[in-house]
Amino acid sequence: MIPNWLIQRAYLTPNKIALSFKNETWTFAQFKEQAVTRAQKLRANGFRQGDRIALLGPSTAEMVFIIHACMLADLEIVMLNSRLTNEELKYQLDDSDASALLVSDELNKRIKGTNVRILPFSSINKSEVVPFDIQDSWQADRTITIMYTSGTTGFPKGVRQTAGNHVSSALSSVLNLGLDENDVWLCTMPLFHISGFSILVRSVLYGMEVRLYEKFDASLVADEIQKGTVTRMSVVSHTLDKVMQELEKRDAIAHTTFKTMLAGGGPVPIDYLKRATELQIPILQTYGMTETSSQTATLSAADALRKMGSAGKPLFFNHIKINGIQNSGDKGEVYIRGPHVTPGYIGRFSDKTPLVDGWLPTGDIGYLDEEGYLYIVDRRSDLIISGGENIYPAEIENVLFAHPGIRDAGVCGQEHPDWGSVPIAFVVASDGVTEEELAAHCEGRLARYKMPKKFRFVDELPRNASNKLLRRELKLWVDSE
Ligand code: AMP
Ligand code: MG
Ligand code: MG
Repeated sequence: MIPNWLIQRAYLTPNKIALSFKNETWTFAQFKEQAVTRAQKLRANGFRQGDRIALLGPSTAEMVFIIHACMLADLEIVMLNSRLTNEELKYQLDDSDASALLVSDELNKRIKGTNVRILPFSSINKSEVVPFDIQDSWQADRTITIMYTSGTTGFPKGVRQTAGNHVSSALSSVLNLGLDENDVWLCTMPLFHISGFSILVRSVLYGMEVRLYEKFDASLVADEIQKGTVTRMSVVSHTLDKVMQELEKRDAIAHTTFKTMLAGGGPVPIDYLKRATELQIPILQTYGMTETSSQTATLSAADALRKMGSAGKPLFFNHIKINGIQNSGDKGEVYIRGPHVTPGYIGRFSDKTPLVDGWLPTGDIGYLDEEGYLYIVDRRSDLIISGGENIYPAEIENVLFAHPGIRDAGVCGQEHPDWGSVPIAFVVASDGVTEEELAAHCEGRLARYKMPKKFRFVDELPRNASNKLLRRELKLWVDSE
C-alpha cells in the first residue's frame, strides 16, 4: 500500500510551501484544503471511486488543485494535450471511454460534437460539498493517470501510469539527484506530459515546492535561474536553448544555488552542453518515455562532457539492456525493466501487453559502453521530435490518405534550427491537388505542431517489395533538399 500522497504530505509538513503560481503561494496544508474541497464537489457531481474522467486545462494552480482533487476522489485521469485539435481530442475521449470531461473554462470551446458529459471547472467550483471518506492509502496498481502517446500504427495509445509507477519514478529520481530542504522545481513543461506531471508527483512525495508557469517564458525563466529563486528545472533542448540565449544576452550566469537542469525528450546538441558549461547550468541529460513514467536513465552533470551525448546510467530501481547484444558498444533495441514501467494500455490497445518477458521494448536504438552508460543513437526509426513533442509520421499519413486526391503519402522529419525537427510530407496526388488544399485538409485534423511544413509532390514513394514505406530513403530526399 502507498500512502495517499497529499494527505500524508500535508500531515508531515503542513507549513512547507507546496506550490507557487504568479504571486500566490500555498502551503501543503492550504493545498490539501483546496484539493479536498474540490474532491468533495466532484462527489456532488456523481463521480465515484474508480471512475475514469478526462482532464483538459492549462498549467495553472487551479488545474493542479483539480488534478489532486481527482486523485483524492479516486478517479483515473486521462490527461489531454491542449495542443490537439477537436478531432484528436475526440479520439482520445472515445478510446478512453471517459465518463466526463473536466475542462477549464478557457478551453471549454475546444471540444465540439461529443456526447461525453462536459464539466467546466467553474461549474465544479459552484457545486455543493459532499464529504466522503478519503482513503488514507492506495493500492500500488491503482491507475493514477493515462497519457496518450502515438505509435507506429498512427493510433495513439492510452498508457496507464499507476501509483506504484509514479512513486518508483519519483524515488529513483531523488536517489540520483538528491534533495535539499530549499529545493524549488520550476515547472514550465506541460502537465499533460509525464515530464510536467512527474514534477507534481515529486512535490508531494518530497515535500518540495513547485514554481508553476502557465507558459514557458524565456525571460522570466532566466530571471529565476539567475536570481536562484528556483533550484531545478526540466527542459527539452528547444527551451534550454531559449533560456541560454536569454542569459547570454544578459551576460549573466546561473545562480550558484541552481542545481539541476534536467534535459530530456530527445538528444541535447553537444554545442548546447558546451554553452551550458559556460553559463554554469548543470545539465543532466535524461532518457525516458510516457511508458516509464519519466526518467529511466540520467547522466550526471559531472559526466556531461566526459560522456558527451550519453543519456547516462539507469536510475537505481531500473534496468536497461540492449536486446540480444552481449558486447558493450554493439547497437540494438533498448529494453527497459523496472517498477516504473507501465502495466499496459487502455482502449483499443488494452489487450496488447507492452512487455516481452518482463521487459519493455522501446523501439529506440542504442548501446551501452564499457562502463554501462547508455547512448541512444537512433530514435524509433520514424519518430519526429519537434520542440519536445513527439510526432508519428503514420498519424499524419493517415490524415493525408483521407484526402480523395491522395494516392500515396509518406512523412519524415527535416532538421530545423528552432524545433529540432519538423514534418515534411511527400505525396503522390491526382492532378490539380494543391499544397494549399492539403494544408487546409490537415488543419483541424492535426495539431499545429504536427502540420507538415512542406508538401512535396512526387511520382512515386520509395517502398520495398512488401510495400513498406522506406523512410530512410525519404530522409535522404529531405537531406538533399
Ligand atoms: P514520450 O513517450 O512521448 O515521452 O517519448 C519518448 C521517446 O522520446 C523515447 O522513446 C525516445 O525515442 C525519445 N527520447 C526521450 N529521451 C531521449 C534522449 N535523451 N535521447 C534521445 N531520445 C530520447
Ligand atoms: Mg511515446
Ligand atoms: Mg516526448
